[in-house]
Amino acid sequence: MDEKFDLVVIGGGPGGYVAAARALQLGLKTAVIEEREMGGTCLNRGCIPTKALLHSAEVYQTVKSCDAYGISAENAAFDYSKIAARRDKVVKQLRSGVEMLVKGRKGVIYSGKAYLKDKNTIEVTGEKPCVLHADKIIIATGSMPSIPPIPGIDGEKVLDSDAVLAMATCPESIVIIGGGVIGVEFASLYTALGKQVTILEMMENILPGTDTEISGLLRKSLEKKGIKIFTGARVTGIENGAKGVCAFEYQGKKLTVEGDIVIAAIGRKPNSKGLGLENLGIETDRGFIRTDDHMETPIKGVYAIGDVTGRVLLAHAASAQGLVAAANAAGQEKKISGAVPGCIYTSPEIATVGLSEADAVKGGHSVKIGRFAVSMNGKSKIAGETEGLAKIVTDEKTGEILGAHIMAPRATDMIAELCTAMKLESTIEELADVIHPHPTVSEIIMEAANDALGQCVNKPE
Ligand code: FAD
Ligand code: NAD
Repeated sequence: MDEKFDLVVIGGGPGGYVAAARALQLGLKTAVIEEREMGGTCLNRGCIPTKALLHSAEVYQTVKSCDAYGISAENAAFDYSKIAARRDKVVKQLRSGVEMLVKGRKGVIYSGKAYLKDKNTIEVTGEKPCVLHADKIIIATGSMPSIPPIPGIDGEKVLDSDAVLAMATCPESIVIIGGGVIGVEFASLYTALGKQVTILEMMENILPGTDTEISGLLRKSLEKKGIKIFTGARVTGIENGAKGVCAFEYQGKKLTVEGDIVIAAIGRKPNSKGLGLENLGIETDRGFIRTDDHMETPIKGVYAIGDVTGRVLLAHAASAQGLVAAANAAGQEKKISGAVPGCIYTSPEIATVGLSEADAVKGGHSVKIGRFAVSMNGKSKIAGETEGLAKIVTDEKTGEILGAHIMAPRATDMIAELCTAMKLESTIEELADVIHPHPTVSEIIMEAANDALGQCVNKPE
């Protein structure tokens, strides 16, 4: 049966469902087509299940170390099948919430795979095939794990993040190929659960692209926990037997390392194949759909948002782009703007926004850095979590805040302050003048701001 809509959104991830919900608020008759589950990668195979697992691991660590706080709890132990069941329960609850955000606003969700016939016609294949007609279309099809052509990588011991997040058992030893965001988060999870972890990263640093002072601190922290890290390592092959054995080249030597599982965490590729983009004349760049700042493709009325655009592969970026595309589809004039924060849920957490020190220098700024160590913060001492640093990158001449890089407990909850300051174009003086509550970890931001101005009273001269 054919149906006609003002807007059809392809993909129900954090890009697609947010775009649909906003379009419905703006009065557009809207449908979402989703071939798997609403909530997309983020809710079902990404942000939420990883953080649910990491939270259980954190609770386990807290109980194990409670003696230091004057509390006794003997024989701390975990049952991974229960941790996995909790992960799945959290996901399920949130998923039904997401569906309601669309259906509750009278949006229609179609289960099936979308195929673009032309700029106003979408074919849905699946259990109930149909054709939808739309004035406007938003493509929000996301991404999937990318697997490099390494011999043996298709073997049964090698898992991508989707497969790891579906596991109900916990391996004893884990080799992770890729020391990016997924790699270090899985490393943190398994090491907190007492398992043996090795990371093989091909670049010179883990978390390439992150401020090197912060990634260096994280490396030290992970190594202190017993994680073996090889950077500048080239994986040449994987043998799949009783264990997964990775052969790799490192500093001119040929080495091997084995694990119960090998996790391939080497990046993601866009879901744009088989979507019918060629029928609309939309060209892609390595599969990514390019848009302007209105999130519109070169085809008028057809927008793309989220991972499939390759701009920033993060859930909150997809949602922000979704809001822009929905507004434009409803006849408003909106552009995407503002720096996108990035959060890494290691222990301690890392949160960054804006330029790294190196990129600020490269960009021609006369850079002034403010730093404040977490170990000097009262609340962190109280919590017994004293690892980390707040680092703010500023322009010495103008006082502009160029970037901020925080490794601290709950850094991910604190970075929004810097995003706000940057969005409002606050100067470093203004940030230093903000009265922060005491005792809180957030004081490290005020202290780092004062340090950039050479006036941090709480830092020994
Ligand atoms: P997706 O969430 O991928 O959703 C796209 C949807 O489109 C999918 O549901 C898919 O089934 C559907 N689809 C695709 N093709 C079709 C089609 N032809 N027809 C119908 N439906 C289709 N980001 C963060 O910000 N914070 C985190 O902590 C975080 N953790 C992560 C952890 C992991 C392990 C992974 C893999 C990713 C993580 N991310 C995180 C990234 C985040 O998940 C993505 O950036 C985000 O999900 C992208 O949203 P999206 O809407 O663009 O695409
Ligand atoms: P990534 O790009 O962050 O890291 C991939 C890493 O693998 C890089 O360090 C790269 O140098 C390395 N690599 C590539 N090929 C390799 C090879 N052959 N051998 C060894 N190392 C190799 O990608 P990811 O970790 O797969 O994550 C994908 C995306 O998902 C991220 O870009 C991020 O946007 C998103 N994500 C976000 C979060 C979060 O926000 N907390 C968590 C997980 C994932």
